[in-house]
Amino acid sequence: MARKAPPGTEVALIGLGANLGDGAKTLGTALAALQTLPACHLIEASSLYRSAPVDAAGPDYWNAVVAMHCGLTPEALLARLQRLEHEHGRERLQGVHNAPRTLDLDLLLFGSRRAHDERLVLPHPRMHLRAFVLVPLAEIWPHLVLPDGESVAHAARRLQQAGQQIQRVGPLAFISTRS
Ligand code: AMP
Repeated sequence: MARKAPPGTEVALIGLGANLGDGAKTLGTALAALQTLPACHLIEASSLYRSAPVDAAGPDYWNAVVAMHCGLTPEALLARLQRLEHEHGRERLQGVHNAPRTLDLDLLLFGSRRAHDERLVLPHPRMHLRAFVLVPLAEIWPHLVLPDGESVAHAARRLQQAGQQIQRVGPLAFISTRS
């Protein structure tokens, strides 16, 4: 990994996406909420990006990637991420894949941990296929090597050259969750 995690923690990489409602604002509040997770500490956040949906219809997505030191188990972190999605009005439609969503939080990597069960797959099985993950990730950690041996920067360029569209919009604004 690109950063050495303090004892008892791992580096967790999280992909953020939204394409319903005010997605830019949602990602700002999600960033703030991620910083309140217990035993977790934000290391870096990418800029805010806009991307065309991949394998799906609907409005463009807002995207970003954040890196945290995390002392939770990956399962506990995923449960926290799913709670945040729910709090942002995410509805999971039975049998509908890639449906538009108010907030999507994917656990991309958790140190070098591997998992392969019903609830959690690590590394995230589709991260290496998605410019909307790899372009923001290349902004913060271009030299990170993916599980298949390719660098993030190289894979990001390759996917963009293959036609996946994504543009940097500006900084990912931190929006306080306190009223
Ligand atoms: P999605 O609709 O793309 O957000 O997928 C969510 C589903 O994928 C949930 O049932 C999760 O339990 C499962 N899942 C498996 N691995 C992961 C992962 N690494 N990050 C997020 N969700 C995951």
